[in-house]
Amino acid sequence: MADIQELEKIASQVRRDIVRMVHAVQSGHPGGSLGCTEFLTALYFDILKHNAKSFDMDAKGEDVFFLSNGHISPVFYSVLSRSGYFDVDELNTFRKINSRLQGHPTTHEGLEGVRIASGSLGQGMSVAIGAALTKKMNGEDTTVYTLHGDGELQEGQIWEAALYAPANKVDNLICTIDANGQQIDGSTDDVLSMGSIADKFKAFGWEVMTIEKGNDMTSVVDGLKHAKSLTGKGKPVCVVMHTEMGYGVDFMQGTHEWHGIAPSDDQLAAALGQLEETLGDY
Ligand SMILES: [Mg+2]
Repeated sequence: MADIQELEKIASQVRRDIVRMVHAVQSGHPGGSLGCTEFLTALYFDILKHNAKSFDMDAKGEDVFFLSNGHISPVFYSVLSRSGYFDVDELNTFRKINSRLQGHPTTHEGLEGVRIASGSLGQGMSVAIGAALTKKMNGEDTTVYTLHGDGELQEGQIWEAALYAPANKVDNLICTIDANGQQIDGSTDDVLSMGSIADKFKAFGWEVMTIEKGNDMTSVVDGLKHAKSLTGKGKPVCVVMHTEMGYGVDFMQGTHEWHGIAPSDDQLAAALGQLEETLGDY
């Protein structure tokens, strides 16, 4: 079991990486990235059974994670590099021409750790179901994880996948919803209310659980372990994880305003003043 304080230190460095990457090119999505930092840190540094040093696309015998809301690539790239998939120096190339770290992850750049292109929202759950079924056919005792935005749930393809997975007993699948109540144009309730996400997935036949404090490392680690304990029982697992967009930087927190804009020089300095450098900046 990873030490919670160690994970929190990693998360602080990941947040520094996020704001520095987005600031450097004045482009990118800091809000959702900061909100999902505990989740991705816990996943890659504690929960996932994976081998960063020998990455291949097939992931035989490994757990797999698919980032469906690909616009939060800053947190994804930071965690991948910090957990050993590629050199942290490459974070300097984020969103630059010919970089492997495109604004939205793609596979043809060959970046270790990326197994689907995402950014066109709504597709990751369908891909994950295919991977999860493959792992079952291969007799693997492994788990497929996804992350989705709550705004992303407005995409129709999500509900085709949500219907398919329970009907086909895809019970080695854990889909986490980043329930921050925000999307790019405002609150999810104002844009297109989702009602109760938990009730919707329950109605479709999923095993549903909640992480109330998605920005508390202990809650996230315990929640993901509980989710794992619910696999293998005939149902896919949906985790409704409540987070705050922009968490960790006070002036970015709790608003959709920082969904997709970059901090100025002064704002970067203010943000970094709130985030301890623990592993060394890239
Ligand atoms: Mg959202």
